[in-house]
Amino acid sequence: MRTTALMSTATPRSLRPTTIERRDLRPDDVDVRVTYCGVCHSDLHALDSAGPQAGLVPGHEFVGEVVAVGSAVTAFAPGDPVAVGNIVDSCGTCAMCLRGQENYCAEFPTLTYGGRDRVDGSTTLGGYAGRYIVRDSFVYHRPLSLDPAGVAPLMCAGITVWEPLRSNGVGEGTRLGVVGLGGLGHLAVRLGHALGADVTVFTTSEGKASDAERLGASRVVVSTDADAMAAAAGSLDLVIDTVSAEHDLAPYLRVLDLDGTLCSLGTLGPISIQTMDLLLGRKRLTSSGSGGRPWTQDLLDFCGTHGVTADVEIVPSADVDVALDRLARNDVRYRFVLDLADLDAELDAERDTLHV
Ligand code: NAP
Ligand code: ZN
Repeated sequence: MRTTALMSTATPRSLRPTTIERRDLRPDDVDVRVTYCGVCHSDLHALDSAGPQAGLVPGHEFVGEVVAVGSAVTAFAPGDPVAVGNIVDSCGTCAMCLRGQENYCAEFPTLTYGGRDRVDGSTTLGGYAGRYIVRDSFVYHRPLSLDPAGVAPLMCAGITVWEPLRSNGVGEGTRLGVVGLGGLGHLAVRLGHALGADVTVFTTSEGKASDAERLGASRVVVSTDADAMAAAAGSLDLVIDTVSAEHDLAPYLRVLDLDGTLCSLGTLGPISIQTMDLLLGRKRLTSSGSGGRPWTQDLLDFCGTHGVTADVEIVPSADVDVALDRLARNDVRYRFVLDLADLDAELDAERDTLHV
């Protein structure tokens, strides 16, 4: 089946509507019409690291409706409102998959874009597209009570902070810190607050303070203010760090109390810390990636019950390059979501331009 997708081009960080081929439905496949897809900072990292002309179609947090299902699918039917995140398959048999932690599959989970399909070996193309074909186990029912555009970011940004919030037992009275008020960060604040935590936000953007409080933070620390950072020393149980750039983690180990945990989610790759910053107070340093299927359904159920969605700026897919540029400049409150309704018109306009 053919569909329109936004694909990377020779111009850095620029996407153009292109016709792509989606596979025929396998017995356990679901064909999803994508209506809204969030723009994650990981999309920027992927575009920047893949280089020009990589043929990349980003997008790994989207919502839509089921168009058709394979012969063996029983949990979904055409018309169902659904959501898909950044994992579309896993081996299903390793120790991690059996515990519902498909995100840590021993064979590595198949990512929604830039992954390798487990059946035909093709490279997956993401959700900045009109349609997506996905194995039924990695499709989720989305609560109809929630605004669909605000649900899309739950599927990456939301689940990425939800798993550490839940696995670290965040609840009534937990002293939670959130570093970086962006896509992941604003959902960590909202979800942490909804779980009953007392939330402190660390930001480089003083202008986000009132938003942080509206989202549920009890206090805001501007992380470039040395006195404010010193005043926060030893005050928190768990810090979730969502900063998208390399930075020193030591200041966030120092704001932890005895046995506190720093969960670094934002940047992957080597980090440098002094053991002394862990030793003093028996601190823990951890990380995690996305979430398993049970945690993902748990998040959607929780959000349905508590009315939690992301704060989104909805943009037509024609403006994807503007959204990526603004995201790179830290100019979004707090997640861009592409409205893909204009995608086919976009492709027609592109063809007209090429023919004149
Ligand atoms: P985002 O919306 O751009 O938010 C990142 C926030 O980090 C910004 O809003 C900003 O917050 C802060 N920040 C940015 N540059 C900074 C700098 N140079 N120094 C200090 N603070 C800075 O990004 P996102 O979509 O939330 O993603 C955040 C990171 O998580 C990205 O690196 C992304 O690739 C990664 N990620 C990881 C996973 C995972 O599974 N572990 C999943 C999804 C995304 P303030 O303005 O408040 O300072
Ligand atoms: Zn993401």
